[in-house]
Amino acid sequence: MSAKIYAETKLPTEFGELRLRAYRDDACETHLDEPLALVSGFLDPQKPINVRIHSSCLTSEVLGSCKCDCKQQLDQSLAYIKENTGVVIYLHQEGRGIGIGDKVRVYALQEHGYDTIEANEMLGLPIDARRYDQAVDILKDLGVKQVNLLTNNPDKINYLTNAGFDVIQRTPVHGTDNVHSAPYIETKRTRMGHML
Ligand SMILES: [Zn+2]
Repeated sequence: MSAKIYAETKLPTEFGELRLRAYRDDACETHLDEPLALVSGFLDPQKPINVRIHSSCLTSEVLGSCKCDCKQQLDQSLAYIKENTGVVIYLHQEGRGIGIGDKVRVYALQEHGYDTIEANEMLGLPIDARRYDQAVDILKDLGVKQVNLLTNNPDKINYLTNAGFDVIQRTPVHGTDNVHSAPYIETKRTRMGHML
């Protein structure tokens, strides 16, 4: 089963008015993780569409954590599509897909000097358990073919390319480092291949 449009509304935001589209995937057992698309402007299927595929980060986006730059990436992406049109897809995949409880366990190990990859490995957790099949469903629903992808992550470019999209451009998104986030961002750059 794939994600299908369930409801849509206007959403006034600090970036301006966006369209919020909620999708429902019948394969999901609960409705707590329904994927979202925030759309700005008319998405012309004949032209490249600005796309951000964003995985949730409750710790930074809701709690104000300084340990990563996810909220800054989300905010930059929303501001970018508001200015240039496009779509931000929001997927509930906390902690690169391991969930909030295990994310806290990983953070606890990082207090002892391990980086995010070492901590995941010590706990027997996948380094990256995220999936993007719902994002593919949503992009197809929106008629997207050519993509300007807002990302630093080459895995996402490869994933969309393999899914049949034409990723013709990449626009980097990253926030400013702080003393708490710098080690994580450095790990993403040196050990996860992110283009930072
Ligand atoms: Zn984060």
